[in-house]
Amino acid sequence: MKRLQLCVLAAFSVLLVSCGEQSSDTTTTQAKQQNYQWKLVTSWPKNFPGLGKGPETFAKHVERMSNGRLKIKVFGAGQMVPGFEVFDTVSSGAAEMGHAGSYYWKGKAPASQIFTAIPFGMNATEMNAWLHYGGGLELWREVYEPFNLIPFAGGNSGIQMAGWFKKEVNSVADLKGLKMRIPGLGGEVLKKLGGIPVALTGGELFTSLQSGAIDATEWVGPYNDLAFGFYKAAKYYYYSGWHEPSANLEFIVNKQAYEALPDDLQAIIEVATRAVNQDMWDEYTAANNAAMQALVETHGVDMRPLPKEVMLALKNASAEVMQEQSAADPLFKKVYGSYLDFQTKVMKYHHISEFEYYKNRANSNQ
Ligand code: CA
Repeated sequence: MKRLQLCVLAAFSVLLVSCGEQSSDTTTTQAKQQNYQWKLVTSWPKNFPGLGKGPETFAKHVERMSNGRLKIKVFGAGQMVPGFEVFDTVSSGAAEMGHAGSYYWKGKAPASQIFTAIPFGMNATEMNAWLHYGGGLELWREVYEPFNLIPFAGGNSGIQMAGWFKKEVNSVADLKGLKMRIPGLGGEVLKKLGGIPVALTGGELFTSLQSGAIDATEWVGPYNDLAFGFYKAAKYYYYSGWHEPSANLEFIVNKQAYEALPDDLQAIIEVATRAVNQDMWDEYTAANNAAMQALVETHGVDMRPLPKEVMLALKNASAEVMQEQSAADPLFKKVYGSYLDFQTKVMKYHHISEFEYYKNRANSNQ
């Protein structure tokens, strides 16, 4: 009788009480009645437009869909841990989830960079297609497996801007000695052309640019860059974002925490990440144009394309970087092989569909 009472108690408690010989059905029932409270750490300032809004939206979706059984508290960069410690914090289980950019972790796994962006690589539509229908996500999980992490796509900014420069860029020589915040593979490309890539999280950028600690910075695009006020610290705003033709973000989940969830809560996490992945991109698409207008018309920003000569040099240097990274790391080579194969194929159709359409639409407006 006492054992029965204990079992009944356990079924209504958040504590998992061992009742001796449990059937898997009983375990599932208990798990379904258990409430979970998770922490989600991010690399972004709390509630930052786009990037920071994504994890907040995700937490709201999950709480609503689970009827409050899974509550997730979102921490901005520096609130629980600094932005660059998200990976380790979730890997250790100190937080169950994180939201960041995978290219921040290139020191841990060089192949992680591929899941954010590749210079002159795929756009957001193509990246999502590779991840979800081209084997990309499976490879991402393979790369993160040794770190006890399960990754999910976590939003996309679309094509970014090349960045904010205190001085004009008129030739490749202007990149020599340029101290620029530019993470991931884009930073490696800049280094090839004599620049000095600097790693800084978003919250550190404005002060660094204003003080002259860095000469230039890329961040995202008009929507996010207006929010940081970069126009007060640098005059020139160059396009296009050759280094991040899409920036795919990540949700990372601690493996044990995920596996301890019942199947329906796991499904809620999976579906909510997919929803946020699309939602963030929609938000950027909707907000970038108005922000660009405000930058140019209200704040007098000088917006211009990078010279063709510079863009060509960046493209050639990118090809060299990809070859070197592939030669240095077998896993990078494997993942990049899959990425490049997908890009080569998808480009064929996109050149006669998307590319032709953009050209035709532009012509019809002239
Ligand atoms: Ca960026």
